[in-house]
Amino acid sequence: MCPFGRSIVNGTGSFFEVGRMVAHVLLIEGEDGLVAVDTGVGLDDCREGAARLGHGFMAFARPTLDPAETLLRQVERLGFRASDVKHILPTHLDVDHAGGLPDFPEATVHILEAEKTAAIERRTLPERLRYRPAQLAHGPRWKVYEPGGERWMGLSSVRALSDDVVLVPTYGHTRGHACVAVRAGEKWLLHCGDAYFFHGEMQPEPTCPPALRFFQGHVAIDDRARLENQARLRTLHAERKADVELFSAHCIVEFARYQAS
Ligand SMILES: [Zn+2]
Repeated sequence: MCPFGRSIVNGTGSFFEVGRMVAHVLLIEGEDGLVAVDTGVGLDDCREGAARLGHGFMAFARPTLDPAETLLRQVERLGFRASDVKHILPTHLDVDHAGGLPDFPEATVHILEAEKTAAIERRTLPERLRYRPAQLAHGPRWKVYEPGGERWMGLSSVRALSDDVVLVPTYGHTRGHACVAVRAGEKWLLHCGDAYFFHGEMQPEPTCPPALRFFQGHVAIDDRARLENQARLRTLHAERKADVELFSAHCIVEFARYQAS
């Protein structure tokens, strides 16, 4: 995504340069096939643009909509087929996270009940803008979860798929937002979705460029809860750095870490 105003989006460069944001998708080779965390925008989104994604998202995010960057095309470049993706865990169902779902119609979609309901009912005007019915029109194979009493690293959690894939409910950005924790050897990767947007927000003295700070507060269904959960993630990052690597869906600095390795 290429929003205007690099200095207020990325915290670097000039206001007159174009900013950069990513839709960070995690792909896991599991025992019975591939597992994806988030899906970015999909092939139909690339073809139809604003008609499918909405004018607000197109104007703010200015996505490149390059089919080669979709999850499906990247999965194919790795030598797999769409049907090899057996499970998808969207952190939530906003337009820039659920767009790839129709590209994997056979996958089971694991989600908190509150998020599925929010995306289907679209009760408020902001929810009518952020959730796009076309992205769910194929009828995903849902597997829904209620926030559970289990704990993961001290946080409330729900086991999904296996002991190695865990939903961490983080209400605030949306009604059923969840971070997704995946065990990777000795460590855990925590895909934080939109629980925060900028790597600086996980530092002891948090920083965030003004456009991202404004945007997050503006779109939150419950901003106080969002900030409380963000603080919990910050504590986790400070205390369990050796055990948990976390990243947000949209931060280019965090994304670059994994591109390099
Ligand atoms: Zn997002």
